[in-house]
Amino acid sequence: MSFSCPHFRPNDDWCLRLKTDCVPGRRGCVLAGKTTFAVPAEQRVREREEEKRRQAIARLWGSPGAGS
Ligand code: SF4
Repeated sequence: MSFSCPHFRPNDDWCLRLKTDCVPGRRGCVLAGKTTFAVPAEQRVREREEEKRRQAIARLWGSPGAGS
């Protein structure tokens, strides 16, 4: 089954409804409580936040591979 969310902005994986990163099933998401995910939304939110922190630190320190 596939799902296309009208709130999803694909160029940066942004949720226009929640004004934060799209993590399907997260609190406030149209899918929350209606779908079962292999990895719980709360865990994916934590992982996304941790990855953003790592990228921010890498940018701060000018680490290679940290993006632009
Ligand atoms: S978090 Fe949910 S409501 Fe927001 S864009 Fe993603 S799937 Fe849609």
